Amino acid sequence: MSPPPDTRQALVIGAGLSGSAVAHSLAVRGWTVTVLDRAPGVGAGASGLPAGLAAPHVSPDDNVLSRITRAGVQATLQRAQALLHRGTDWALTGVLEHNLAGKRKLPADTTDHHSTPASAAQVAAAGLPPGTPALWHAQAGWIRPRQLVAAQLQTPGVQVRWGQQVQGIERRGDAWAVTDAQGQTLGQAPWLVLASAFDSLALLRPLPGLSVPLNPLRGQVSFGHMADLKDAQRQLLPPFPVNGHGSFISGVPTSEGPLGWFIGATFERNCEQAPVRTQDHAANQERLATLLPALGQAMAGEFEPQHVHGWAGLRCTLPNRLPAVGPLDPLRWPGLCLSTGMGARGISLAVLCGELTGAWLSQETLPLPPALAKHLAADRFV
Ligand SMILES: Cc1cc2nc3c(=O)[nH]c(=O)nc-3n(C[C@H](O)[C@H](O)[C@H](O)COP(=O)(O)OP(=O)(O)OC[C@H]3O[C@@H](n4cnc5c(N)ncnc54)[C@H](O)[C@@H]3O)c2cc1C
Repeated sequence: MSPPPDTRQALVIGAGLSGSAVAHSLAVRGWTVTVLDRAPGVGAGASGLPAGLAAPHVSPDDNVLSRITRAGVQATLQRAQALLHRGTDWALTGVLEHNLAGKRKLPADTTDHHSTPASAAQVAAAGLPPGTPALWHAQAGWIRPRQLVAAQLQTPGVQVRWGQQVQGIERRGDAWAVTDAQGQTLGQAPWLVLASAFDSLALLRPLPGLSVPLNPLRGQVSFGHMADLKDAQRQLLPPFPVNGHGSFISGVPTSEGPLGWFIGATFERNCEQAPVRTQDHAANQERLATLLPALGQAMAGEFEPQHVHGWAGLRCTLPNRLPAVGPLDPLRWPGLCLSTGMGARGISLAVLCGELTGAWLSQETLPLPPALAKHLAADRFV
Protein backbone atom coordinates (compact mmCIF):
# COMPACT_ATOMS: atom_id res chain seq x y z
CA MET A 1 0.00 0.00 0.00
CA SER A 2 1.41 3.43 -0.88
CA PRO A 3 1.98 6.03 1.87
CA PRO A 4 -0.98 8.33 2.71
CA PRO A 5 -1.09 11.55 0.63
CA ASP A 6 -0.16 13.86 3.52
CA THR A 7 3.16 12.04 3.96
CA ARG A 8 4.02 12.04 0.24
CA GLN A 9 6.25 15.08 0.58
CA ALA A 10 9.97 15.00 -0.03
CA LEU A 11 12.95 17.30 0.17
CA VAL A 12 15.70 16.51 -2.31
CA ILE A 13 19.18 17.97 -1.77
CA GLY A 14 21.00 18.46 -5.08
CA ALA A 15 19.58 19.40 -8.48
CA GLY A 16 21.89 17.38 -10.73
CA LEU A 17 20.97 14.33 -12.81
CA SER A 18 20.35 12.31 -9.61
CA GLY A 19 18.21 14.83 -7.71
CA SER A 20 16.21 15.93 -10.75
CA ALA A 21 15.48 12.29 -11.67
CA VAL A 22 14.28 11.49 -8.14
CA ALA A 23 12.14 14.65 -8.11
CA HIS A 24 10.58 13.75 -11.47
CA SER A 25 9.87 10.14 -10.48
CA LEU A 26 8.23 11.15 -7.19
CA ALA A 27 6.23 14.02 -8.70
CA VAL A 28 4.73 11.86 -11.46
CA ARG A 29 3.56 9.54 -8.67
CA GLY A 30 1.70 12.41 -7.01
CA TRP A 31 4.35 13.50 -4.50
CA THR A 32 5.12 17.11 -3.65
CA VAL A 33 8.85 17.63 -4.02
CA THR A 34 11.10 20.54 -3.09
CA VAL A 35 14.62 20.42 -4.52
CA LEU A 36 17.29 22.53 -2.81
CA ASP A 37 20.61 23.31 -4.49
CA ARG A 38 23.38 25.61 -3.34
CA ALA A 39 24.13 26.72 -6.92
CA PRO A 40 22.39 29.62 -8.67
CA GLY A 41 21.11 27.37 -11.49
CA VAL A 42 21.33 24.08 -13.42
CA GLY A 43 24.63 22.28 -13.99
CA ALA A 44 26.88 23.34 -11.09
CA GLY A 45 28.10 19.80 -10.40
CA ALA A 46 29.13 16.89 -12.62
CA SER A 47 25.82 17.22 -14.48
CA GLY A 48 27.15 20.44 -16.03
CA LEU A 49 29.11 18.13 -18.38
CA PRO A 50 28.60 19.64 -21.87
CA ALA A 51 27.87 16.27 -23.55
CA GLY A 52 28.21 12.62 -22.57
CA LEU A 53 27.19 9.12 -23.56
CA ALA A 54 24.39 6.82 -22.52
CA ALA A 55 25.99 3.50 -23.43
CA PRO A 56 25.82 0.00 -21.93
CA HIS A 57 28.59 -1.97 -20.27
CA VAL A 58 29.02 -5.50 -21.60
CA SER A 59 30.69 -8.56 -20.08
CA PRO A 60 30.94 -12.24 -21.13
CA ASP A 61 28.88 -13.39 -18.13
CA ASP A 62 26.43 -10.46 -18.45
CA ASN A 63 27.32 -9.44 -14.90
CA VAL A 64 25.34 -7.23 -12.51
CA LEU A 65 26.94 -4.00 -13.80
CA SER A 66 26.11 -4.96 -17.39
CA ARG A 67 22.48 -5.80 -16.59
CA ILE A 68 22.00 -2.65 -14.53
CA THR A 69 23.60 -0.30 -17.09
CA ARG A 70 21.52 -1.88 -19.88
CA ALA A 71 18.32 -1.19 -17.90
CA GLY A 72 19.61 2.27 -17.02
CA VAL A 73 20.41 3.23 -20.60
CA GLN A 74 16.92 2.12 -21.67
CA ALA A 75 15.35 4.25 -18.92
CA THR A 76 17.46 7.29 -19.88
CA LEU A 77 16.69 6.97 -23.60
CA GLN A 78 12.96 6.69 -22.86
CA ARG A 79 13.13 9.78 -20.62
CA ALA A 80 15.06 11.68 -23.28
CA GLN A 81 12.49 10.65 -25.88
CA ALA A 82 9.70 11.93 -23.62
CA LEU A 83 11.23 15.20 -22.42
CA LEU A 84 14.00 16.36 -24.78
CA HIS A 85 14.44 17.61 -28.33
CA ARG A 86 16.05 14.96 -30.49
CA GLY A 87 19.06 16.26 -32.43
CA THR A 88 19.77 19.26 -30.21
CA ASP A 89 19.49 17.81 -26.67
CA TRP A 90 20.19 14.14 -27.39
CA ALA A 91 20.35 11.60 -30.21
CA LEU A 92 19.99 7.84 -30.46
CA THR A 93 23.01 7.48 -32.77
CA GLY A 94 24.34 4.11 -31.70
CA VAL A 95 27.87 4.02 -30.28
CA LEU A 96 30.91 2.19 -31.62
CA GLU A 97 33.16 0.80 -28.89
CA HIS A 98 36.77 0.49 -30.05
CA ASN A 99 37.65 -2.75 -28.32
CA LEU A 100 41.25 -1.92 -27.48
CA ALA A 101 43.28 -5.04 -26.60
CA GLY A 102 40.10 -7.04 -27.23
CA LYS A 103 39.27 -6.85 -23.52
CA ARG A 104 35.50 -6.43 -23.96
CA LYS A 105 33.66 -9.68 -24.59
CA LEU A 106 29.98 -10.07 -25.42
CA PRO A 107 27.91 -12.80 -23.78
CA ALA A 108 27.22 -15.82 -25.98
CA ASP A 109 23.50 -14.95 -26.19
CA THR A 110 23.03 -11.29 -27.15
CA THR A 111 19.51 -11.57 -28.55
CA ASP A 112 18.00 -8.90 -26.30
CA HIS A 113 21.14 -6.81 -25.76
CA HIS A 114 21.36 -4.58 -28.84
CA SER A 115 25.16 -4.92 -28.62
CA THR A 116 26.92 -6.87 -31.37
CA PRO A 117 30.34 -7.09 -33.02
CA ALA A 118 30.68 -3.97 -35.20
CA SER A 119 30.34 -4.54 -38.93
CA ALA A 120 33.18 -3.80 -41.35
CA ALA A 121 31.16 -0.82 -42.60
CA GLN A 122 30.79 0.60 -39.06
CA VAL A 123 34.53 0.17 -38.39
CA ALA A 124 35.29 1.94 -41.67
CA ALA A 125 32.82 4.76 -40.93
CA ALA A 126 34.65 5.37 -37.64
CA GLY A 127 37.88 5.78 -39.64
CA LEU A 128 39.48 2.73 -38.04
CA PRO A 129 41.59 0.26 -40.10
CA PRO A 130 39.84 -2.90 -41.38
CA GLY A 131 39.85 -5.68 -38.80
CA THR A 132 39.98 -3.32 -35.79
CA PRO A 133 38.13 -5.10 -32.96
CA ALA A 134 34.99 -3.12 -32.18
CA LEU A 135 31.48 -3.51 -30.78
CA TRP A 136 28.32 -1.77 -31.89
CA HIS A 137 25.83 -0.61 -29.25
CA ALA A 138 22.61 0.15 -31.12
CA GLN A 139 20.70 1.34 -28.03
CA ALA A 140 23.08 4.16 -27.13
CA GLY A 141 23.71 7.79 -27.96
CA TRP A 142 24.77 11.20 -26.71
CA ILE A 143 22.94 13.45 -24.25
CA ARG A 144 23.48 16.98 -22.97
CA PRO A 145 22.91 16.37 -19.23
CA ARG A 146 21.96 19.97 -18.39
CA GLN A 147 19.00 19.76 -20.77
CA LEU A 148 17.80 16.57 -19.09
CA VAL A 149 18.19 18.08 -15.61
CA ALA A 150 16.28 21.23 -16.60
CA ALA A 151 13.46 19.21 -18.20
CA GLN A 152 13.06 16.87 -15.21
CA LEU A 153 12.93 19.82 -12.81
CA GLN A 154 10.03 21.27 -14.78
CA THR A 155 7.75 18.37 -13.84
CA PRO A 156 4.51 19.65 -12.20
CA GLY A 157 4.78 19.01 -8.44
CA VAL A 158 8.50 19.85 -8.35
CA GLN A 159 9.61 23.14 -6.82
CA VAL A 160 13.29 24.11 -7.10
CA ARG A 161 14.99 26.56 -4.75
CA TRP A 162 18.44 27.66 -5.95
CA GLY A 163 21.10 29.25 -3.75
CA GLN A 164 20.25 27.01 -0.75
CA GLN A 165 23.42 25.64 0.83
CA VAL A 166 22.34 22.82 3.13
CA GLN A 167 24.72 22.49 6.05
CA GLY A 168 22.87 20.12 8.38
CA ILE A 169 20.10 17.51 8.43
CA GLU A 170 18.21 16.43 11.53
CA ARG A 171 15.22 14.34 12.51
CA ARG A 172 12.49 16.46 14.16
CA GLY A 173 9.53 14.37 15.28
CA ASP A 174 8.20 12.56 12.19
CA ALA A 175 9.99 14.84 9.74
CA TRP A 176 13.45 15.69 8.45
CA ALA A 177 14.62 19.28 8.70
CA VAL A 178 17.48 20.75 6.71
CA THR A 179 19.37 23.77 7.94
CA ASP A 180 21.86 26.33 6.61
CA ALA A 181 25.19 27.42 8.12
CA GLN A 182 23.38 29.72 10.58
CA GLY A 183 21.12 26.88 11.74
CA GLN A 184 18.09 28.40 9.98
CA THR A 185 15.57 25.82 8.75
CA LEU A 186 15.51 25.70 4.94
CA GLY A 187 12.83 23.05 4.68
CA GLN A 188 11.08 20.19 6.44
CA ALA A 189 9.36 17.04 5.11
CA PRO A 190 8.69 13.42 6.10
CA TRP A 191 11.11 12.21 3.40
CA LEU A 192 14.62 13.47 2.66
CA VAL A 193 16.65 12.35 -0.35
CA LEU A 194 20.35 13.23 -0.46
CA ALA A 195 21.43 13.60 -4.08
CA SER A 196 24.25 16.02 -3.39
CA ALA A 197 26.99 13.77 -4.82
CA PHE A 198 30.24 13.71 -2.80
CA ASP A 199 28.87 16.41 -0.46
CA SER A 200 26.26 13.92 0.79
CA LEU A 201 29.10 12.53 2.91
CA ALA A 202 29.40 15.71 5.01
CA LEU A 203 25.62 15.76 5.57
CA LEU A 204 25.60 12.09 6.68
CA ARG A 205 28.67 12.37 8.92
CA PRO A 206 26.85 13.45 12.13
CA LEU A 207 24.47 10.43 11.90
CA PRO A 208 26.06 7.48 13.69
CA GLY A 209 26.07 4.01 12.11
CA LEU A 210 26.21 5.09 8.47
CA SER A 211 29.36 4.72 6.44
CA VAL A 212 28.89 5.33 2.73
CA PRO A 213 32.36 5.27 1.12
CA LEU A 214 31.81 8.07 -1.43
CA ASN A 215 34.89 9.41 -3.22
CA PRO A 216 35.53 12.27 -5.65
CA LEU A 217 37.01 11.40 -9.06
CA ARG A 218 37.97 14.46 -11.09
CA GLY A 219 37.51 14.48 -14.86
CA GLN A 220 38.13 16.92 -17.72
CA VAL A 221 36.66 17.05 -21.20
CA SER A 222 38.38 18.92 -24.06
CA PHE A 223 36.22 20.38 -26.81
CA GLY A 224 36.17 22.74 -29.75
CA HIS A 225 33.83 24.18 -32.36
CA MET A 226 33.16 22.26 -35.58
CA ALA A 227 33.22 25.53 -37.56
CA ASP A 228 36.92 25.93 -36.69
CA LEU A 229 37.85 22.55 -38.22
CA LYS A 230 39.36 22.27 -41.69
CA ASP A 231 37.58 20.21 -44.38
CA ALA A 232 40.23 17.48 -44.19
CA GLN A 233 39.57 17.13 -40.45
CA ARG A 234 35.80 17.20 -40.85
CA GLN A 235 35.95 14.35 -43.36
CA LEU A 236 37.52 12.14 -40.70
CA LEU A 237 34.81 12.72 -38.07
CA PRO A 238 32.90 9.51 -37.31
CA PRO A 239 29.13 9.83 -37.88
CA PHE A 240 28.44 8.42 -34.39
CA PRO A 241 30.21 8.62 -30.99
CA VAL A 242 33.13 6.27 -30.39
CA ASN A 243 34.15 5.05 -26.93
CA GLY A 244 36.49 2.41 -25.54
CA HIS A 245 39.30 4.66 -24.26
CA GLY A 246 37.37 7.72 -23.20
CA SER A 247 34.87 8.86 -25.79
CA PHE A 248 34.73 11.12 -28.85
CA ILE A 249 31.49 12.87 -29.81
CA SER A 250 30.93 15.42 -32.57
CA GLY A 251 28.07 17.40 -34.06
CA VAL A 252 26.58 18.24 -30.66
CA PRO A 253 25.64 21.83 -29.73
CA THR A 254 27.97 23.44 -27.20
CA SER A 255 26.43 25.55 -24.43
CA GLU A 256 27.46 28.66 -26.44
CA GLY A 257 25.37 27.38 -29.37
CA PRO A 258 27.69 26.31 -32.24
CA LEU A 259 28.16 22.60 -32.90
CA GLY A 260 31.16 21.11 -31.17
CA TRP A 261 33.44 18.08 -30.91
CA PHE A 262 34.26 16.59 -27.49
CA ILE A 263 36.95 14.19 -26.23
CA GLY A 264 37.24 12.99 -22.66
CA ALA A 265 37.61 12.34 -20.07
CA THR A 266 40.51 12.26 -17.63
CA PHE A 267 40.32 10.30 -14.35
CA GLU A 268 42.03 11.64 -11.23
CA ARG A 269 41.40 10.18 -7.80
CA ASN A 270 41.35 11.99 -4.46
CA CYS A 271 41.07 15.43 -5.99
CA GLU A 272 38.29 17.71 -4.75
CA GLN A 273 39.04 20.61 -7.10
CA ALA A 274 37.94 20.87 -10.71
CA PRO A 275 39.67 23.79 -12.49
CA VAL A 276 40.45 23.19 -16.21
CA ARG A 277 44.13 22.30 -16.73
CA THR A 278 46.43 22.45 -19.77
CA GLN A 279 48.06 19.09 -19.01
CA ASP A 280 44.64 17.44 -19.05
CA HIS A 281 44.06 18.69 -22.59
CA ALA A 282 47.32 16.93 -23.49
CA ALA A 283 46.03 13.74 -21.84
CA ASN A 284 42.80 14.00 -23.85
CA GLN A 285 44.81 14.54 -27.04
CA GLU A 286 46.65 11.26 -26.33
CA ARG A 287 43.31 9.62 -25.58
CA LEU A 288 41.98 10.65 -29.01
CA ALA A 289 45.19 9.45 -30.70
CA THR A 290 44.65 5.98 -29.16
CA LEU A 291 40.90 5.84 -29.72
CA LEU A 292 40.83 7.14 -33.31
CA PRO A 293 44.46 7.31 -34.53
CA ALA A 294 43.86 8.99 -37.93
CA LEU A 295 41.57 11.65 -36.47
CA GLY A 296 43.93 12.16 -33.52
CA GLN A 297 46.78 12.88 -35.91
CA ALA A 298 44.70 15.25 -38.04
CA MET A 299 43.43 17.16 -34.98
CA ALA A 300 46.73 17.51 -33.12
CA GLY A 301 46.77 21.30 -33.66
CA GLU A 302 43.26 21.69 -32.21
CA PHE A 303 44.60 21.06 -28.70
CA GLU A 304 46.71 24.24 -28.74
CA PRO A 305 45.57 26.61 -25.95
CA GLN A 306 44.20 29.19 -28.43
CA HIS A 307 41.79 26.59 -29.92
CA VAL A 308 40.77 24.13 -27.24
CA HIS A 309 38.06 24.65 -24.61
CA GLY A 310 37.67 22.63 -21.44
CA TRP A 311 35.18 21.60 -18.82
CA ALA A 312 36.04 19.75 -15.61
CA GLY A 313 33.94 18.24 -12.85
CA LEU A 314 33.94 15.75 -9.99
CA ARG A 315 32.33 12.35 -10.36
CA CYS A 316 31.18 10.79 -7.12
CA THR A 317 32.13 7.13 -6.92
CA LEU A 318 31.49 4.06 -4.78
CA PRO A 319 33.90 1.08 -4.61
CA ASN A 320 31.83 -1.34 -6.73
CA ARG A 321 30.91 1.30 -9.40
CA LEU A 322 27.22 0.98 -8.49
CA PRO A 323 25.24 3.89 -6.98
CA ALA A 324 23.60 3.94 -3.55
CA VAL A 325 19.85 4.37 -3.92
CA GLY A 326 16.76 4.44 -1.70
CA PRO A 327 16.21 4.16 2.06
CA LEU A 328 19.44 4.01 4.07
CA ASP A 329 18.32 2.63 7.43
CA PRO A 330 14.53 2.67 7.64
CA LEU A 331 14.40 1.48 11.27
CA ARG A 332 16.94 3.89 12.69
CA TRP A 333 16.56 6.82 10.28
CA PRO A 334 13.06 6.49 8.78
CA GLY A 335 12.48 8.65 5.72
CA LEU A 336 16.17 9.19 4.88
CA CYS A 337 17.17 8.14 1.36
CA LEU A 338 20.11 8.46 -1.01
CA SER A 339 20.53 8.69 -4.74
CA THR A 340 24.22 9.20 -5.31
CA GLY A 341 27.50 7.54 -6.26
CA MET A 342 26.70 7.57 -10.01
CA GLY A 343 30.44 7.54 -10.79
CA ALA A 344 31.26 7.81 -14.49
CA ARG A 345 27.77 6.61 -15.49
CA GLY A 346 25.30 9.18 -14.18
CA ILE A 347 23.75 9.67 -17.62
CA SER A 348 23.19 5.95 -17.90
CA LEU A 349 22.06 5.33 -14.30
CA ALA A 350 20.44 8.39 -12.66
CA VAL A 351 17.04 8.05 -14.36
CA LEU A 352 16.78 4.38 -13.36
CA CYS A 353 17.84 5.30 -9.80
CA GLY A 354 15.14 7.99 -9.70
CA GLU A 355 12.56 5.43 -10.81
CA LEU A 356 13.78 2.96 -8.19
CA THR A 357 13.46 5.62 -5.49
CA GLY A 358 9.98 6.58 -6.71
CA ALA A 359 8.88 2.94 -6.69
CA TRP A 360 10.45 2.15 -3.30
CA LEU A 361 8.93 5.19 -1.60
CA SER A 362 5.52 4.68 -3.22
CA GLN A 363 5.66 0.95 -2.45
CA GLU A 364 5.20 -0.01 -6.09
CA THR A 365 6.68 -2.81 -8.17
CA LEU A 366 10.34 -2.03 -8.81
CA PRO A 367 11.58 -1.19 -12.32
CA LEU A 368 14.29 -3.87 -11.89
CA PRO A 369 14.13 -7.50 -10.68
CA PRO A 370 14.61 -7.37 -6.85
CA ALA A 371 17.75 -9.53 -7.16
CA LEU A 372 19.34 -6.75 -9.26
CA ALA A 373 17.84 -3.82 -7.33
CA LYS A 374 19.47 -5.05 -4.12
CA HIS A 375 22.90 -4.29 -5.65
CA LEU A 376 21.89 -0.61 -5.80
CA ALA A 377 20.18 -0.42 -2.41
CA ALA A 378 21.71 2.25 -0.15
CA ASP A 379 21.13 0.08 2.93
CA ARG A 380 24.01 -2.16 1.82
CA PHE A 381 26.26 0.40 3.56
CA VAL A 382 24.55 0.21 6.94
C1 LIG B 1 34.43 14.72 -17.09
C2 LIG B 1 33.21 13.87 -16.88
C3 LIG B 1 32.70 13.10 -17.92
C4 LIG B 1 31.58 12.30 -17.73
N1 LIG B 1 31.07 11.59 -18.79
C5 LIG B 1 29.97 10.80 -18.61
C6 LIG B 1 29.41 10.07 -19.67
O1 LIG B 1 29.85 10.16 -20.83
N2 LIG B 1 28.35 9.26 -19.43
C7 LIG B 1 27.82 9.15 -18.17
O2 LIG B 1 26.85 8.39 -17.98
N3 LIG B 1 28.29 9.88 -17.14
C8 LIG B 1 29.36 10.69 -17.33
N4 LIG B 1 29.87 11.39 -16.29
C9 LIG B 1 29.28 11.22 -14.95
C10 LIG B 1 28.04 12.09 -14.73
O3 LIG B 1 28.29 13.40 -15.18
C11 LIG B 1 27.72 12.08 -13.24
O4 LIG B 1 27.62 10.74 -12.78
C12 LIG B 1 26.40 12.77 -12.92
O5 LIG B 1 26.36 14.05 -13.49
C13 LIG B 1 26.23 12.88 -11.40
O6 LIG B 1 25.02 13.55 -11.13
P1 LIG B 1 24.61 13.90 -9.64
O7 LIG B 1 23.31 14.59 -9.70
O8 LIG B 1 24.75 12.68 -8.79
O9 LIG B 1 25.76 14.89 -9.12
P2 LIG B 1 25.98 16.43 -9.48
O10 LIG B 1 25.67 16.72 -10.89
O11 LIG B 1 27.38 16.74 -9.01
O12 LIG B 1 24.92 17.20 -8.62
C14 LIG B 1 25.04 17.41 -7.23
C15 LIG B 1 24.31 18.71 -6.92
O13 LIG B 1 24.25 18.85 -5.50
C16 LIG B 1 24.44 20.21 -5.18
N5 LIG B 1 24.92 20.24 -3.79
C17 LIG B 1 26.02 19.63 -3.29
N6 LIG B 1 26.12 19.85 -1.97
C18 LIG B 1 25.06 20.60 -1.62
C19 LIG B 1 24.60 21.14 -0.38
N7 LIG B 1 25.26 20.95 0.76
N8 LIG B 1 23.47 21.88 -0.38
C20 LIG B 1 22.77 22.09 -1.54
N9 LIG B 1 23.16 21.60 -2.74
C21 LIG B 1 24.28 20.86 -2.77
C22 LIG B 1 25.45 20.71 -6.20
O14 LIG B 1 25.38 22.11 -6.36
C23 LIG B 1 25.02 19.94 -7.47
O15 LIG B 1 24.13 20.70 -8.26
C24 LIG B 1 30.97 12.25 -16.46
C25 LIG B 1 31.46 13.02 -15.42
C26 LIG B 1 32.57 13.83 -15.61
C27 LIG B 1 33.08 14.67 -14.47
